[in-house]
Amino acid sequence: MTGHLEVRRRLARAARADRLPQVILLAGPAGVGKQRLALWLAQLVLCERRDDEPCGRCRTCRLVDGLAHADLHWVVPIPRPKAADPDKAVDEAAQAIAEVMEERRAKPLYGRPDGMASHSMASVRLLQRQASLTAVEGGRRVFILGDADRLVPQESSQEAANALLKLLEEPPAGSLFVLTTEEPRRLLPTIRSRAVPVRLGRLKDAEVRGFLERELAPPLERQALDERVALGAGSIGDAVAASDERGRAQRAAGQLLDAVLSGSAARYERALRQAPFAARGEFTAMLDALAETLNDAARGRLGQAGRRPVPPALLKRAEAGALLRAMERVAEAREAAAGNVNPQILLAVLGEDLAEAL
Ligand SMILES: [Zn+2]
Repeated sequence: MTGHLEVRRRLARAARADRLPQVILLAGPAGVGKQRLALWLAQLVLCERRDDEPCGRCRTCRLVDGLAHADLHWVVPIPRPKAADPDKAVDEAAQAIAEVMEERRAKPLYGRPDGMASHSMASVRLLQRQASLTAVEGGRRVFILGDADRLVPQESSQEAANALLKLLEEPPAGSLFVLTTEEPRRLLPTIRSRAVPVRLGRLKDAEVRGFLERELAPPLERQALDERVALGAGSIGDAVAASDERGRAQRAAGQLLDAVLSGSAARYERALRQAPFAARGEFTAMLDALAETLNDAARGRLGQAGRRPVPPALLKRAEAGALLRAMERVAEAREAAAGNVNPQILLAVLGEDLAEAL
C-alpha cells in the first residue's frame, strides 16, 4: 500500500475504537490506489493481529493479498451478461468477475475497466447472494464495489440501483461495504447518502517514484523514470500506463513551446526540422500533450493546482486569456490532424498561431 498515510491512520483509529462506518465511499482521482486501499481496509478488519495497521503477514492478510479470502468479495465492472434468465445471468457475472480476479492475481497492476463494462442487475444480485451467506471464516465480511459509478448507466430501470440501495441501507451484521469512484457526483444521491465519504488525494511524486522503482520490471532508466513520475502527476495508474510514446510526445510538445517562447526564428526552424512526425498518431499525441501543458499553465495562472510541472517561461510570459487562445489553436490543429492534412504544414501554421497567441 503506497501513500495516504493520514487517511489510513484515521481509518485505523476508527476501526480500533469500533467506529468504522459499515459503508464507506472512497473517492479520488484515477490510479491513486482506491481499490488498493479498499483491500487494505479488508486486511484492517480481518487481520488476526490487532495492531494499528494490518500486519500483512498473518494467514488472513496473505489471503486478502492473494485475493483468496473466502469472506472478501470484490465486484468490478464487467460486460453485461447475455443470459436472459436472471439466475443464469448471475452465474455469468460471477464467472466474469472470477476471471478478472484471476488476471489480477497474476498481474496486480491493472488498467481501467473497458468503457462498456458496468455493474448490471446481475452483479448486484451476485452481491445480494454473497451478502446473504454467513461468514466462512467466522469473522467479518468485506464487499468491495469498484467504480461504483458504473452502476447500470445504460439501463433505464432503476432496479439495480434500488437493490443495491436496500443492501446498503441494512448491511448484514459484521459486513463492511467499500465503494470506490473517481466521480462521487455520478453516483445516485440516494446511494451516496448511505456511505461515509473518504477522500483520497493525489500521491506525492516521491511515493509514485518509490512504487515504480519497486514494482516495474525491468526497471526504468533514470530519465524514463523521471518522465513517468511527471506524467503520472500523483497517480500510480497514470504513471504505469504512460508509455514511452507519451514521454516522447511530452518532450516534443515541450520543445515546440520552448521554440515558440524563445521567439527566435532560427530556433523555431530547428525545432520544426527536429520533429519529423512520420506517423500521424505521433503528431496527434504531441498535440494532446501540448493541450495538456497549456491547460496546466492556465490552471496555474488561475491559482488552481496544475497536474504537471509547467515550463516556467510559459507561466511567466502568458496570461490566462492568452493560454486559452493558444489552447483553441491547438484544438483546431487537432481537428485538422484528424483529416488528411500534412502534419508538417499543420505544425508550421500552429507554430505561427502559438507565437502570436502567447
Ligand atoms: Zn494480518
